[in-house]
Amino acid sequence: MKPNVKDLSKEQFTSYLAERGQPSYRAAQVWQWLYQKRAVSFDEMSNLSGALRRQLAADLSISRPRIARQSESRDGTVKFLFELADGETIESVLIPEVHRLTLCISTQAGCGFGCAFCATALMGLKRNLRASEIVDQVLEASRTLDGERRITHVVLMGMGEPLANYTQTVQALEVLTDATWGIGISPRRMTLSSVGLVPQIQKLMEETRVNLAISLHAANDELRDKLMPVNRKYSLKQLIDCCRSLPIPRRKRITFEYVLLNGVNDSEQDARELCRLLSGVRCKVNVIPFNPHPGSSFERPGESDISRFGQILLEQGFQVNVRRPRGDDIQAACGQLSVLSSETVSNERWRVEDTSHSLPLTPH
Ligand code: SAH
Repeated sequence: MKPNVKDLSKEQFTSYLAERGQPSYRAAQVWQWLYQKRAVSFDEMSNLSGALRRQLAADLSISRPRIARQSESRDGTVKFLFELADGETIESVLIPEVHRLTLCISTQAGCGFGCAFCATALMGLKRNLRASEIVDQVLEASRTLDGERRITHVVLMGMGEPLANYTQTVQALEVLTDATWGIGISPRRMTLSSVGLVPQIQKLMEETRVNLAISLHAANDELRDKLMPVNRKYSLKQLIDCCRSLPIPRRKRITFEYVLLNGVNDSEQDARELCRLLSGVRCKVNVIPFNPHPGSSFERPGESDISRFGQILLEQGFQVNVRRPRGDDIQAACGQLSVLSSETVSNERWRVEDTSHSLPLTPH
């Protein structure tokens, strides 16, 4: 198998060409063909000599994942199922809004973090995606758009934990954000969401300028340990201390995501505990009412509980956004991404490595 040109970083590709006596602007030309004109063969790259095109084709391949399924929700949300070269499948979701078109992309096939309420967790981790496979989701989704429509925002909130696949994810971010050579989406329009891997969060904030979202979902360790097993490794104190110390520019804020689970983390007391935990952190809070999926016994709270929760945060001076589900009729809403068939999922109980906690949680 020839290496995929889209798996080479800018630096690696530039030195590959330099070793063959090519000037560095050739690397820029090839990248522009790949990422701006979305070329699928070296043959198309008409500003390169025939000899160079033949050499590239002899050494390298250009990946093209197959769209195995494309479904459109009644609200205009589109879900793509991609089949990768080895047969693994991943999903991306295109979310049209009035002034933006957001693509939600995956960074792993499946996920190994076992969050109690998440559909992807039921798959377990299949494997990390390569940088090319992360970028290809944007390229292929873009190809389906007509006329002048362009993807304006990218969120790394699909399947998987981006910071558990750090190197490939950051390499993909380089291509997605590079305005001269690459796809050219501003890092201000990109958000990476993490379960809270403290060392990698620090590294990411030093190395990139993308926005950071953190999945919190509980305001005390006892509950967060149960909902998100990762909390046993990085406690809330470590996570919030890390957030307080990040070098975030004054005009930017960290986003905290809080999925509301009926009778589990949605009480008035939970809201007040969350306010105390986040007090003094420059942040905004995205409250996400739970999106049900086969295989989970959690429930979405009623409307009045959802608004009471949001209201308490607002009264305490937090910037709050209660998220409405998009694409839930095609199982494309937050936490519904899973390429297991619904029969497989509904027969399976979700698992955690440490069985000392008896779950599913009983409502309090
Ligand atoms: N692994 C990263 C990226 C996934 S982002 C992370 O956890 O942050 C997906 C977001 O949707 C996370 O905040 C996740 O906790 C949330 N989520 C998962 N399952 C959900 C569900 N069923 N309903 C609503 N939100 C859910």
